[in-house]
Amino acid sequence: MDYNKFFADKVGELKSEGRYRVFADLERQAGKFPRAKAHINGDLRDITVWCSNDYMGMGQNPDAIKAMVDTATNYGVGAGGTRNISGTTHQHVLLEKEIAELHQTEASLAFGSGWIANLTTLSTICSLIPNCVVISDSKNHNSMIEGIRHSRAEKHIFRHNDVEDLERILKSIDIDRPKLIAFESVYSMDGDISPMKEICDLADKYKAMTFLDEVHAVGLYGEHGAGVAERDGLMDRITIIQGTMAKAFGVVGGYIAGTSDMCDFVRSYGTGFIFSTSTPPAVAAACRANIKYLKEHNELRIKHQERAATLKKKFSDAGLPVMDSESHIVPILVGDPVLCKQASDELMNVHNIYVQPINYPTVERGTERLRFTPTPLHDDDLMDTLVAALKDVWGKLGLKAAA
Ligand SMILES: *Cc1c(COP(=O)(O)O)cnc(C)c1O
Repeated sequence: MDYNKFFADKVGELKSEGRYRVFADLERQAGKFPRAKAHINGDLRDITVWCSNDYMGMGQNPDAIKAMVDTATNYGVGAGGTRNISGTTHQHVLLEKEIAELHQTEASLAFGSGWIANLTTLSTICSLIPNCVVISDSKNHNSMIEGIRHSRAEKHIFRHNDVEDLERILKSIDIDRPKLIAFESVYSMDGDISPMKEICDLADKYKAMTFLDEVHAVGLYGEHGAGVAERDGLMDRITIIQGTMAKAFGVVGGYIAGTSDMCDFVRSYGTGFIFSTSTPPAVAAACRANIKYLKEHNELRIKHQERAATLKKKFSDAGLPVMDSESHIVPILVGDPVLCKQASDELMNVHNIYVQPINYPTVERGTERLRFTPTPLHDDDLMDTLVAALKDVWGKLGLKAAA
């Protein structure tokens, strides 16, 4: 077999469908977010970033930068081992304490990424509990799907955010059979929020565990940034809360929070936790600094919501097809992968505005979109510049206006 030809042909398929991924080559600039520099065809240009998951601009928080630099200076740059074999530094211990405090749980467990936290936790729990069955929202993130698949547990999928469909499935399963409902709070591509209380009520009624991915909500919702479960007073109803330190917390790393027994179980049996080197202590220190910072700065969350609402209004006033969203995520429908990529290219090349096209398989075909993530640092001027640029691009490419 010509292996290389196989690889090139498979990538060629993506290119012909218009969904080949091209990465923007960026230089983030601490202190200037959401401004950045981009390497474009040999030039280095000033641009505005409109699609970062650094939702609060915490990547440039001076407290976190200082924590990272000081810790690297004192500890060196690497952890030096897996958590079990010399890789647990005091920074990791402090970080897990901070996370548990945030979610008001007995314990937490930190991972190298949110993706690994989901994969490891779901695959470990659902494979080791005998006869476990998983009921999973149809729009759950790839990392949850992979974790469930890896567990080989029986799986049922309920229609997205549909509690009637969830109950229909729960009813069909033996009440005494161990079960886990896996869902998210904020779904990051549509920006909708799950009916968390209703799902928790069903979990109680049918004796199921709840596994909640709050990746797009931690730092952003609730009085202390513990997520939608905090905002809605449901923190004690969730069996396993999963989060990331890579989005609103602006650094990198994932975690779960829950009872000591549950965390100890995943710590002791989860291969994705056991056999992987722990994160650098400087990273753990920076994560803790930002969790702490956002815990104490609710005014940033208020500002964040105001910015998102303002951008939605500016888009709809301009006749742009902004999609319904209950959260801080602001998607605009394009509905075609090639046009979506062209719109993104045009924004970058002509207007120095960076927003990545979102195509299949991240979203369904026919719902290709531009997904904007306004932060507290995207001011009115940046928004007005964006709206004018979008109107120009919509006209030039003949894209559909709002219905
Ligand atoms: C980004 C994401 C993850 C993975 O988190 P990382 O820390 O980036 O690995 C998990 N779940 C959802 C819903 C996500 O969007």
